[in-house]
Amino acid sequence: MKISKRAKDVPPSATIAVTTRAQELKAQGVDVIGFGAGEPDFDTPDYIKDAAIKALKAGKTKYTAAAGIVELRTIIAAKLKKENGLEYSPDQVIVNIGGKHSLYEAMQAVLDPGDEVILPVPYWVTYPETIKLAGATPKIVETDKANSYKITPDQLKETITEKTAILVINSPNNPGGFTYTPQELKAIAQVLEGTTVYVLSDEIYEKLIYGDTKFVSFASLSEDAYNRTLTLNGLSKAFSMTGWRLGYTAGPLEVIKAMGRLQSHMTSNPVTFGQYAAIEALGAPAEEAIESMRIEFERRGKYMAERLNSIEGVECSQPTGAFYCFPDVSSHYGRNINGTKINGSMDFAKALLEQANVALVPGLPFGCDNNVRLSFACSLEQIKKGLDRLEKWLKQ
Ligand code: PMP
Repeated sequence: MKISKRAKDVPPSATIAVTTRAQELKAQGVDVIGFGAGEPDFDTPDYIKDAAIKALKAGKTKYTAAAGIVELRTIIAAKLKKENGLEYSPDQVIVNIGGKHSLYEAMQAVLDPGDEVILPVPYWVTYPETIKLAGATPKIVETDKANSYKITPDQLKETITEKTAILVINSPNNPGGFTYTPQELKAIAQVLEGTTVYVLSDEIYEKLIYGDTKFVSFASLSEDAYNRTLTLNGLSKAFSMTGWRLGYTAGPLEVIKAMGRLQSHMTSNPVTFGQYAAIEALGAPAEEAIESMRIEFERRGKYMAERLNSIEGVECSQPTGAFYCFPDVSSHYGRNINGTKINGSMDFAKALLEQANVALVPGLPFGCDNNVRLSFACSLEQIKKGLDRLEKWLKQ
């Protein structure tokens, strides 16, 4: 069968080899410690599950408006106003089938061949592919470890051309675990003034921030920022609902309408009873459930970063958001560990898995070969055990 050029050009996930091998080893009975998870290890709170069951029993099992039911879009608009200081009408909100779908559809709605999208390193693996699938080109910007891998206003200024259509900002960041300060975002917003560049602000980890970190929505920085920003969010991370596939986008009416047109042909509405559960999740006072999860993540992240930093040749800053540590392990590159030459993050991850049975994600597919990503969405006990193994392995 013929395969389209578009499909041929999408590379298989570069992280999949390590994940598949970890699964194989587990199936053989090997005790693998997994730091690969991109989802919370908590269950969806019961009150949200109950709302889905209630909706199912009440017959909420048919098509809805393709962009999502108006009650849910109204609750999302109210959430964005209350928590993020953003004034959106329900028509400026579209419910998508997970944040990944929001991203794909936003790129399809805005980009044309020849357009460029600025992507600071490290970036979530899905961004470049969604940009390329829309016929546009990712403009990768190398960032500085000393600046916690964040793009600076000067770097942004130098990178913008008349081809630039979008700047992607992801704060708190996957895989970096860092967060832009409100001042840093303001400086970025100022650089954009007078340009035609949109901002795609991926705020999916907004609830998971640590220490004295402040979260601010990019669109809330100024009227100018509001007019050029697509705010992307979802229920996966904050409510531990990754399998429910619920994401949303808010922004300028004409873009949201264009996304709605695409969605009406590509997928139609997100799962109907899931939308009713989302109303409950976003409408009920959920601070307590979210806060207890956040506190636990903070405790684990602090421990993980401190432990990593105490290992020779491993440099890790404290994560200020999301649930990832992203240490620089490059001082071990060039070494031969147990007969395996470590030439980069792919070799590092592979050898660590084979020799010490610890699974982590190489930094290369995130644009940062000096680093590896460890998720702390697993128990403290597992973190201790896994890091003991990593430390011992590197000491050889
Ligand atoms: N953005 C970022 C930065 C993510 O890490 C993820 C999940 N890995 C998503 C968006 C999308 O999540 P979902 O499709 O589950 O809503």
